[in-house]
Amino acid sequence: MERTFLAIKPDGVQRGLVGEIIGRFEAKGFKLVGMKLMTASRELAEQHYDVHKEKPFFAGLVNFITSGPVVAMVWEGEGVVASARKIIGATNPLNAEPATIRGDFAVNVGRNLIHGSDAVETARAEISLWFKEEELSAWTPCLTPWIV
Ligand code: ADP
Ligand code: MG
Repeated sequence: MERTFLAIKPDGVQRGLVGEIIGRFEAKGFKLVGMKLMTASRELAEQHYDVHKEKPFFAGLVNFITSGPVVAMVWEGEGVVASARKIIGATNPLNAEPATIRGDFAVNVGRNLIHGSDAVETARAEISLWFKEEELSAWTPCLTPWIV
């Protein structure tokens, strides 16, 4: 089954939006299989954002993402990678549609509340970067027959 890596960034934790954000993925019908509150090390943040290492915003991004706790999560479900990106909204919150997380709660590209993997392959790499296998739970939600 497809999985994605999501992380509520330090601004989402500081603003008390953890429950609101998690609720959207639960309500959609995706399954939470891993979750931890943690402050990322610089090494972890730099690896996670390695694709952006030449960008002018890289240093600021790493400083921000390591500045406080994040909620790192793994979610599972059919099409969860692309669907989570839709639920999250455009990278720049000013371009994000209302009813998306960034569209509803953010205004600044550097403070856009949540990360979501951009492809199935990226998700696989990010999940193994942030989680050990034993930190992920296999469980069967009893609601499944009513959703899929
Ligand atoms: P996304 O998080 O939507 O996948 P990107 O992978 O393009 O977006 O960028 C990673 C993160 O880097 C963004 O979520 C945002 O926090 C930050 N970022 C992207 N572009 C800019 C920018 N122009 N200025 C500042 N921060 C940026
Ligand atoms: Mg990205």
